[in-house]
Amino acid sequence: MAPRKLAAGNWKMNGTRAALAEIAALAPQAGGVDVLICPPATLVAPMAEAAPKGIAVGGQDCHAEASGAHTGDIAAEQLRDAGASHVIVGHSERRTDHAETDAQVAAKATAAHRAGLVAVICVGETEAQRDAGETLAVIAAQLAGSVPEGATAANTVIAYEPVWAIGTGRTPTVEQIAEVHAAMRQALANRLADGAEMTLLYGGSVKPGNAAEIFAIANVDGALVGGASLKAADFGPIVAALAAA
Ligand code: PEP
Repeated sequence: MAPRKLAAGNWKMNGTRAALAEIAALAPQAGGVDVLICPPATLVAPMAEAAPKGIAVGGQDCHAEASGAHTGDIAAEQLRDAGASHVIVGHSERRTDHAETDAQVAAKATAAHRAGLVAVICVGETEAQRDAGETLAVIAAQLAGSVPEGATAANTVIAYEPVWAIGTGRTPTVEQIAEVHAAMRQALANRLADGAEMTLLYGGSVKPGNAAEIFAIANVDGALVGGASLKAADFGPIVAALAAA
């Protein structure tokens, strides 16, 4: 089976209830593309209630445990209870701001699976690592350490997000994205029974103007979009570009 196509939005720490109008404005999407918005935790439940049919809602992080004394954290089970179907784990802003390790990211992905959520696991090199020629080794190590036992094409999505491309307006070349995605496809196929069918997203400064070019790259099955997912006027054309790819 071919990997499913997914257009995913990460709203980060942006949006209050007034922003729910943006999701209501996302027109019903062409078949064959899954659409996901990951709002701040405060909006997961209201967005899940307001989302047009066919638009999934996800969290941006979860704790590895199902409950307990972890002030400020959210369990995967709680996200599921609030109406989420997915959760992002290992975003570079979490890896940097909260010093999350690959092992912690893997534990969070396992928690997502336990709760019945799809884990969107993020990997990506820094600019210094790319300049040092370490990109493929870094991605291979992050995949090996962050994708847990039990991952399947149905419960896991991988997002390649070069740290230097996130929120900067800079994107890698087509060749650079193709190289990393081919390596990820191979590594996942080697390790997991259905790894060749896993959805692989590119993330980092995707916008309406570059989406079609990115979606034409081999082994790119969609995008994880930050800034351009906040407005339906930007995200809608990105979803349409994926449907047309
Ligand atoms: C992200 O944070 O996952 C991201 C890709 O952000 P942006 O699209 O704004 O670069």
